[in-house]
Amino acid sequence: MMITNGGNRIQPDVFRRMIETMRHGVILTDENRRFIYVNAAFTAITGYTLDELSGQTPSILRSGQHDESFYRQLWHEVHTKGYWQGEIWNRRKNGELLAEWQNIYALLDENGAVQHYAAIFTDISENKRLESSLKQDVYIDSLTGVYNRRYFNERIEQKMNEFARRNQSIALMMVDIDYFKRYNDRYGHIQGDKCLIQVASALAACLRKGERLARFGGEEFVLFLPGLDEQGLLAATNRFLNSARQLELPHEDSPILDTVTVSVGAALMTPDQSLSVTALLERADQALYRAKEEGRNRAITVIA
Ligand code: GH3
Ligand code: MG
Ligand code: MG
Repeated sequence: MMITNGGNRIQPDVFRRMIETMRHGVILTDENRRFIYVNAAFTAITGYTLDELSGQTPSILRSGQHDESFYRQLWHEVHTKGYWQGEIWNRRKNGELLAEWQNIYALLDENGAVQHYAAIFTDISENKRLESSLKQDVYIDSLTGVYNRRYFNERIEQKMNEFARRNQSIALMMVDIDYFKRYNDRYGHIQGDKCLIQVASALAACLRKGERLARFGGEEFVLFLPGLDEQGLLAATNRFLNSARQLELPHEDSPILDTVTVSVGAALMTPDQSLSVTALLERADQALYRAKEEGRNRAITVIA
């Protein structure tokens, strides 16, 4: 087949070579968003070859930096406007965060049904690094990309007050990785860091609107969860517990996958109470301590 453009004839192979030469990452998927093609730049940027991606969808690249509503909006635009363009945070195969300027297109068949999705992106991580070193992202934990303790200390009190004024309950949840010292000792600090990144991103992927996740230090995370009743909080603790259980952590130089578990302590404050952040956090910490004592890999929830 020849493709004609004005008087010039272009061999389809030229298109393939053009796409293979590009410095932009290029993806083609089927209608179910499963990979059918990635170009060389995609592999260079993300670390994934097409073989490794067989049967997968681009959600394998998710970093946990965006909530579900972000993706819902994105796909809504692809399906209504035919394309989406914007900044997106993904993760490379080695765990590193990857900032992309992304364009996603729906390719339709003659009946108007989606036949393929095509995406083309540039790696803007370096620009982002410069930008954030200039504006000093003082509220972000540099290893995991989630909020840090400083954000929690300086911003959560104000948020708690906002929700209290609206007569909403507030829960704080502490999540601590079980036997993390042993994990570090066994696999080394670098693998330990990767584990922290993965746990952070698994927790972040469970966040719902208005919820916040901070790495408090070491292997300990704190979550701010407004507007939940007791049942809702129980469901949330299970969601976060399970997100960690489902992680499969790749080992350097070994095909064996390892797992980790976390312990969770959560404290709920109903609208008629007025505890300080510190006091509520202390209750959550006591609950966490109990979860550890009772055998780990479990959640304890208390009404403050
Ligand atoms: P428990 O089940 O009681 O929580 O035990 P644990 O081993 O998880 O807890 P412990 O507090 O004894 O050990 C935490 C370990 O976390 C010790 C420290 O080496 C490690 N750690 C703290 N910060 C980091 C980090 O940034 N990277 C890595 N790789 N390890 C860290
Ligand atoms: Mg621990
Ligand atoms: Mg700890």
